[in-house]
Amino acid sequence: MEDRESVRSVWAEVLATARRTVADGLVVGTSGNVSARAGDLVLVTPSGIPYDRLGPEDAVAVDMAGRQVLGGFPPTSELPMHLAVYRSTGASAVVHTHAVHATAVSTLVDELPPVHYLTGLLGGPVGVADYALYGTDELAANMLRALDGRSGCLLRNHGTVTYGTDLDQAYDRTAQLEWMCRLWLTASGVPGRVPSLLTPGQLAEAAEKLRGYGVPRG
Ligand code: 13P
Ligand code: ZN
Repeated sequence: MEDRESVRSVWAEVLATARRTVADGLVVGTSGNVSARAGDLVLVTPSGIPYDRLGPEDAVAVDMAGRQVLGGFPPTSELPMHLAVYRSTGASAVVHTHAVHATAVSTLVDELPPVHYLTGLLGGPVGVADYALYGTDELAANMLRALDGRSGCLLRNHGTVTYGTDLDQAYDRTAQLEWMCRLWLTASGVPGRVPSLLTPGQLAEAAEKLRGYGVPRG
């Protein structure tokens, strides 16, 4: 069992990030979910409970097999997606939202066209996972296929998933992904014009430079 102090502080970060998704308009109500690792455990938002009703005593934790080991509320219905990310990547945090521009783009294309160099933050052009019912293993499998080499993807007719080495990074990737989707919708909506796209070479160059960008992570 992880020490209580680490569980307490990771839960506080999970809750703060979940509240931020609502405050920043990336989800409405109880949509979306957030998780982060604390050693062998995963702290997750509970299913269907408004984030402003949750406090420090409401931590929900599961082990890597998905068994609930802490908390009175049931874990998020998207546990299969969160655990699939942790099992397949080095992620320490996962954010899922229904951000409106990203969800709109998920209904239009199979991949977000690379209209901006920040595509490099997510590892390259972001793919769209095939639709499957929310909360299913099928959706988790579709998501993993779309993630392939990326730190985020869109879920068709549903929303976004991003991961990172911590919650700030996972959250920032969601916010940048949503912003790029808004950018592409804005540019591609101009009648009679088609947005210019970055080449693979330009994207690789930007991705390389972005590796040294911002606050160093431990
Ligand atoms: P939960 O409330 O179960 O986390 O579900 C929200 C959601 O976004 C499902 O895809
Ligand atoms: Zn969802």
